[in-house]
Amino acid sequence: LFITFEGPEGAGKTTVLQEIVKKLKSEEIPAQYTREPGGIKIAEEIRQVILNKENTEMDSRTEALLYAAARRQHLIEKVIPLLEKGEIVLCDRFVDSSLAYQGYARGLGIDEVFSINQFAIHDVMPDLTFYFDLSPEKGLERIGKNNSREVNRLDLEGLHFHKKVQQGYKIINDRFKNRVKIIDADRALENVIDEVYSVLKSFMKR
Ligand code: C5P
Ligand code: MG
Repeated sequence: LFITFEGPEGAGKTTVLQEIVKKLKSEEIPAQYTREPGGIKIAEEIRQVILNKENTEMDSRTEALLYAAARRQHLIEKVIPLLEKGEIVLCDRFVDSSLAYQGYARGLGIDEVFSINQFAIHDVMPDLTFYFDLSPEKGLERIGKNNSREVNRLDLEGLHFHKKVQQGYKIINDRFKNRVKIIDADRALENVIDEVYSVLKSFMKR
């Protein structure tokens, strides 16, 4: 099973995901955490280039292509081999992030960005996607409080950009409503973890 986690910054995706992986492993269910952009050496290197605070001249199509390139390498090297071994792969962001951030918020077009991603991923799409629903105001506030987090070029873009990201996700979640489960992320972490885990367990039993 390929499970992805989507949503704005500060929604708690990474923390919840790591707890979910721990819970699965404690039940002896083989599961792996991974993230995008990144997860393997080449894609982590591409991540550094994209997120570097100083790369302010980055063109938005270049950015979209770099995300797609990182995604492909990560799929080929890590995600697909794990899925073939029968593991559950839980991935922090995937193609929906590109559609929301580059396609919608940057204005490249959701369909255009989807088409370069189809070149990169062929037919590998998530079986289930958790969308962490949180207002951009709250998300940015949480990031501000969390000093340990890396602050990058894209975090500095401000509320207007992050509101567009949220609007983009609304369109995408609607388009892919068969696989997207919306989670209210404006709650205590324990409650979010419990809900995600119970949805995942019932999905596994289908
Ligand atoms: O998921 P994480 O917070 O690590 O993402 C790192 C940064 O990359 C965030 O600032 C996010 O907004 C940005 N991002 C993006 N476009 C994507 C994926 C992530 O702008 N397709
Ligand atoms: Mg995160």
